[in-house]
Amino acid sequence: MIPYGTQHITEQDIEAVTAVLTSSHLTQGRAVPAFEEAVRAFCGTGHAVAVNSATSALYLACLALGLGSGDRLWTTPNTFVASANCGRYCGAEVGFVDIEADTGNICASALATRLEAAARDGQLPKVLVVVHFAGQPCDLRQIHALCLPYGVRIIEDASHAIGASYEGDPVGCGRYSDITVFSFHPVKIITTGEGGMAVTQDGELARHMRRLASHGITRDPAEMQGDSEGGWYYQQIELGYNFRLTDIQAALGCSQMTRLQDNIQRRAALADRYDQLLQGLPVQPLRRAVARQSAWHLYVVQVAGQQPATQRARLYQYLQAHGVGVNVHYIPVHTQPYYQSLGHRPGDYPAAEAYYAGALTLPLFPTLTESQQDRVVSLIRQWSLQS
Ligand SMILES: *Cc1c(COP(=O)(O)O)cnc(C)c1O
Repeated sequence: MIPYGTQHITEQDIEAVTAVLTSSHLTQGRAVPAFEEAVRAFCGTGHAVAVNSATSALYLACLALGLGSGDRLWTTPNTFVASANCGRYCGAEVGFVDIEADTGNICASALATRLEAAARDGQLPKVLVVVHFAGQPCDLRQIHALCLPYGVRIIEDASHAIGASYEGDPVGCGRYSDITVFSFHPVKIITTGEGGMAVTQDGELARHMRRLASHGITRDPAEMQGDSEGGWYYQQIELGYNFRLTDIQAALGCSQMTRLQDNIQRRAALADRYDQLLQGLPVQPLRRAVARQSAWHLYVVQVAGQQPATQRARLYQYLQAHGVGVNVHYIPVHTQPYYQSLGHRPGDYPAAEAYYAGALTLPLFPTLTESQQDRVVSLIRQWSLQS
């Protein structure tokens, strides 16, 4: 089976992990700060906080921005459920903004309309979570300009997009947002097994997220009530969690970071090749927006035809039956039973639902060979001839 995405592990990765296993610290050692520094420097931002998943990073980002019950968080329906769930963990109400059908990203003009209406009704969100779908950045400049007058804070869920760039700036630089979150799950661009990171230009937000990731405990006398009682002393000053990344994972992350650019170049070359090979077939790749460089986490197509949902289901079945592990990104979050139980309904975000009906994710990962790719394309051609 050719999977839709998978990790790439080298001898260098294995040696990096082994070195930690035989060292003094499996956690809270030197590999975590080294990994944070590698990502921080790559993004050209101020601060980086490593945690055990992007889900944890999104939750901490919301907490650090002060999201709580009575507040609202908006996100896109075309995402993994974690982009919305982080609002629910904080007790906030979750709302959605519809997408641009041809990129799968949140639609800036839909956002403009919703913000105006929400301002009129006194129902503005405190936080907007944008998702760089498939690795292609959203229209950050415009989204930021729309949110600024209303004081809406922006979190970039860049789980798909480490290494992507927007108008020449790396995703994570923080020019148009408060906090950016990366995922290091094995299907993503680089991996630590499980893992995530929050990056920000704001030192206070970073400090707060770091404290929350480790029980709400501080060892900094400046943050304590009263005086420190000695070198052993710490204080818990708020309720936090254990969301720490281990040094074993961070060592893998550091090693993976050294190949990030090569990895993305390879993904981009394969994506270009798909674009060429798929010409004339009844599948339409996502539009590539100008001045944006995708990290190519996913290669997504829309299955064309009168009844895209039926055609998509048939093509999915056909490819699966022939050993190609295609997938679908994403089932619109507002249609999930949990979100329906909160009052959301199918039909609420028609662009996301129409997009979902025809969406199919083809295999894309750095070790995908051209002959495997040729096989995927020739299967699509065979299917189109018989259907
Ligand atoms: C994978 C993913 C997440 C969650 O990442 P984890 O590291 O598995 O918690 C969140 N948002 C999006 C868009 C994702 O693709």
